[in-house]
Amino acid sequence: MPDISQIKDDLVTANRVLAYHHVVDSFGHVSIRNPENPKHFFLSRARAPNCVEIGDITEFDFQGKIIGHEPGKPYSERFIHGSIYEARPDVMAVVHNHSPNVVPFTVQSKKKMKPIMHMCAPIGSDIPTWDISHKFGVTNLLVTSVDMGRDLAQCLGNRTVSLMRGHGSVVVGKSLREVVFTSIYMEINAEMLLKAYQLGDGDITPLSDGEVAANSGARAGFTLERGWENWCRLTGRPYYAQDWNMGPGFSKTDK
Ligand code: MN
Repeated sequence: MPDISQIKDDLVTANRVLAYHHVVDSFGHVSIRNPENPKHFFLSRARAPNCVEIGDITEFDFQGKIIGHEPGKPYSERFIHGSIYEARPDVMAVVHNHSPNVVPFTVQSKKKMKPIMHMCAPIGSDIPTWDISHKFGVTNLLVTSVDMGRDLAQCLGNRTVSLMRGHGSVVVGKSLREVVFTSIYMEINAEMLLKAYQLGDGDITPLSDGEVAANSGARAGFTLERGWENWCRLTGRPYYAQDWNMGPGFSKTDK
């Protein structure tokens, strides 16, 4: 049986780690599906991620309705999370961010976001951009209803990342560690890619689809634990060890 208080504590850690890496600032959020009730998820009340405490963690259903404990005003964009969990039973954690080096890629289409370094492979080769205006016209660009959340989830499809025009992105994962890892490395990839595009005339060589698949498959528990332990140390948060096993995709050169 999962230890819910430990899961909530890890969610606090995820908030602090994403803030430490500038994936989120005072805004943006991260959630985890409730493993005891897959139709619910945990998300902080509306608070800057670096300030989030365990008492801020709130339980929601897919419609964004608060279940039980209500520590304060919820995030207006909580519908992003509920709609993705509803559409994607494989997703256990979601990050929504305005990651600063990623946003430029949301407003143009000629130079696309592509993974250019092996650690960033999990963002995938095919990254769509959701444009809220296509269905909802002139808005403040925030995802403030179930309809908007579902439209975004539809654009995401079965992928790991969708950009959001003039706003930011959503990142999904099979675990909290995985979604934090992918979000951090997408911001790093974006910063490196902006530099790579400046060096030439756009003729970059991104990872091939085969390389993306090979790297994503090799991202085993060991890789995620190595990052997570370090990020706990950097943010002064408790580290609850999980399985460090290398997984079936780990480097075949390791005997
Ligand atoms: Mn937002």
